[in-house]
Amino acid sequence: MSDCVFCKIAAGEIPGKKLYEDDDILAFHDINPVAPVHVLLIPKKHIASGAADLTEEHSAVIGHIFAVAANIARELDIADGFQIITNNGEKVGQTVAHLHFHLLGGGDFRLKLG
Ligand code: 5GP
Ligand code: ZN
Repeated sequence: MSDCVFCKIAAGEIPGKKLYEDDDILAFHDINPVAPVHVLLIPKKHIASGAADLTEEHSAVIGHIFAVAANIARELDIADGFQIITNNGEKVGQTVAHLHFHLLGGGDFRLKLG
């Protein structure tokens, strides 16, 4: 999508601090980190607007994203404690309407869910 910030990062039209890239997905550092490690993982294909739009057709790319997230967690030394979250909907704070997963961890960071 032409006005989507994550599509632009995927296309190299705007810079992103990339950690991993292949034909299907991209991982890069969040511009406004809320944790010592805050990485975003996205499918390069614009899946709008979020998890509510997923179908079985997306199984392979989502599985791939989680496998790459595990590798990045090991590489960044947070494999013993990390969280992966996705926001779906403005109501819960989603600001970019291109499916993405936040990989969060490091130090004492913990997003408290319960
Ligand atoms: P959301 O709130 O939609 O789940 O998360 C969007 C995330 O994208 C936010 O954490 C925000 O900091 C990040 N973000 C927004 N614009 C950019 C950008 O241009 N570059 C990078 N690296 N991250 C961005
Ligand atoms: Zn997009």
